[in-house]
Amino acid sequence: MKLQKLLLHISAIILFSCSTNAQNQDVPITTTQVTDNIYMLEGRGGNIAVSIGEDGAFMVDDQYANMSEKILNAVKEITDQPIKFLVNTHWHGDHTGGNESMQKEGAIVVAHENVRKRMSTEQFNKLWGRTTPPSPKEALPIVTFSKDISFHLNGEDIFVFHVHNAHTDGDAMVYFSGSNVLHMGDTFFNGKYPYIDISAGGSIDGYLAAHRKALLLADDETKIIPGHLKLSNKAELQAYTEKLTKLRENVENAIATGKTEQEIIDDVSLTKFLDEQDFGDWFIKPEVIRRILYLSLTAKNQSTN
Ligand SMILES: [Zn+2]
Repeated sequence: MKLQKLLLHISAIILFSCSTNAQNQDVPITTTQVTDNIYMLEGRGGNIAVSIGEDGAFMVDDQYANMSEKILNAVKEITDQPIKFLVNTHWHGDHTGGNESMQKEGAIVVAHENVRKRMSTEQFNKLWGRTTPPSPKEALPIVTFSKDISFHLNGEDIFVFHVHNAHTDGDAMVYFSGSNVLHMGDTFFNGKYPYIDISAGGSIDGYLAAHRKALLLADDETKIIPGHLKLSNKAELQAYTEKLTKLRENVENAIATGKTEQEIIDDVSLTKFLDEQDFGDWFIKPEVIRRILYLSLTAKNQSTN
């Protein structure tokens, strides 16, 4: 009986990984030209930005490992130059899975120091009950920074800067100053509930602080690439921030009245105004965001400076 259960479990795992691989094989890479020399690539995983020009390609994020071949082909379609630098906006596998392949191709992978720390060690996520094993050495960023780092290529200055305890504790945004394009990584999920990885140092207050920083930087012409979902702009980010601020307030007020974690998870009235706008129509369901906000707002030593 036990063996039967084990076999069932194993076949479920095989089925799951096969279907994931099949899904990846089916998903094409879509390339969108954002400005003269910046492109956004979508496939499976986080949105990729690629800057091209005489100095070489500069890439932000690289999706899952089994998307690498398609991503490299898509980059070859827009430039003859190799990928010189690759910045990871944070450590999650849907943004760093291609690191090993890209480094093999000669790219130098750059990220915040906490990205390398988290990728080097086993990670446990309390919300999903999921363990992520350490990545192989070949997948780790080889250049790390604590606050910010700048690149000067393809005729513009590219500023990469850390935002504290937002989606994780190792988030970076990338601003292409000449092109006026901002890649926000997973500190922005346009039109959907945000995933805030509390086990990896994320927090709602850091998330909103990251938005304030982005809003200071952006103007009405700025093209904003979110970590997932469609290409965006300042007006949409502003509206999104206001909605999240209201949602945070709802949950904070409910906590102040003495509600427990379970009562907040069950209280549909807290998220109703955004549920009606389909914010929960993806992997972060209304009950999940209510729980995330509860956990974040009741966490001790929350750092958002
Ligand atoms: Zn993420």
